[in-house]
Amino acid sequence: LAKRFVGLEKNIWIEFAALAVEHKAVNVGQGFIDYEPPQYLIDFWTEAVKDPNILLHQYTRGFGHRRLVEAISNVYSPFFNRKIDPLNEILITGGAYPSLYNSFHSLLNHGDEAILIEPFFDCYEPMVRSSGAIPRCIALKPSPASVDADISSSADWTLDKNELESMFNSRTRLIVINTPNNPIGKVFTYEELEHIASLCQKHNVICISDEVYEWITYDPTKKHIRMATLPNMWERTVTIGSAGKTFSSTGLKLGWTIGPKHLIRCCQIAHQDCVYTCPTLPQEVVARCFEYERNRLNSPECYFNSIPSEFIGKRDKLVQALKECGMKPVVPDGGYFVLADFSQLAGDEFQSDAEDMKDFKFVRYLTKEKQLATIPVTGFYTAEHRHSVDKYIRFCFAKKDETLDKAIEILRKLK
Ligand code: PMP
Ligand code: GLN
Repeated sequence: LAKRFVGLEKNIWIEFAALAVEHKAVNVGQGFIDYEPPQYLIDFWTEAVKDPNILLHQYTRGFGHRRLVEAISNVYSPFFNRKIDPLNEILITGGAYPSLYNSFHSLLNHGDEAILIEPFFDCYEPMVRSSGAIPRCIALKPSPASVDADISSSADWTLDKNELESMFNSRTRLIVINTPNNPIGKVFTYEELEHIASLCQKHNVICISDEVYEWITYDPTKKHIRMATLPNMWERTVTIGSAGKTFSSTGLKLGWTIGPKHLIRCCQIAHQDCVYTCPTLPQEVVARCFEYERNRLNSPECYFNSIPSEFIGKRDKLVQALKECGMKPVVPDGGYFVLADFSQLAGDEFQSDAEDMKDFKFVRYLTKEKQLATIPVTGFYTAEHRHSVDKYIRFCFAKKDETLDKAIEILRKLK
């Protein structure tokens, strides 16, 4: 194994997805929807595969299928308050994962520092490390009042302003933000983003903004805000999106990076000798999906507008069940995950030790002994900060009611 990958062998998805299957567990762990994606998406697959344009079966433009980059430009330009150049300001990749990967690998030099905010989507840290850069991590902290509350909110978790400022120095090349956040569901406020933006400008730092849950927010007063729309931030922000999350079809594995030409050019260079071009037919399908939604963007039926109402009932149902079984949920303002403090349910056998963390032990126990698959939250932290959060596990509520009901039945018996 090349030295830059040594130490990165473990991966929570590889381990826990397999464990859930092995034990035939009710899966409320990994973030994917276990019911049909929108009907039009299924119809567009059938139409695209039968399209008389047989070139749809061949390579397409390397930096993104024309029809798709144009559709993305048309949908997103109003949300970014500017005309996005489809050929130079958008790169199509094989999902938000490769968008992140080629951003880190084309923007970071050996020895640079990248600021990550914990909890973070777990791949950020290994991606930064394999690029040769150094992750500098700062954790969101729950307000003292929320720590022992029976129920709290993702909005209770905030960054200490002084601590954040102290993370920036002359080696800082970039900061990653993820709003709405995975796993905690925090939707960053304008003031929070403004503070980060001012530090980026002061220290000449790039912001990588992972916005894969952009359409999934629950409180009308806490809507998603795009970092690239803050004053003077377009020029230094790379925004990442995912077709899998946008159209509830994670198997699509297509994503996009949107940003100014000089930053997208860097990402293109990393992409061109690795992937070169993403599969054509799925790009054609996603293009048609965006065109379809563009025609009804202002209607409540638009999927981007209706998706939160599809999930909010599921969120509330799971939160209620978690409370009833003695866990303490952190109710998310966005995304489709909920964290829960399981301390009251775990006996002394579940303690963090040199071998393993408490939440990993509890998740393995739930999966193997109770056939309930969840995800340990310390997987979203660096070794330095994970001890303070080893009492939380993550649930995904983007599941059909039947799955949620089965999960709730198991939870009720845990008490
Ligand atoms: N970022 C975040 C915050 C995620 O939750 C995920 C998982 N959907 C990804 C990136 C990767 O997305 P994709 O499946 O499009 O690669
Ligand atoms: N983003 C999804 C989650 O957080 C899936 C990640 C994965 O399976 N690699 O659950």
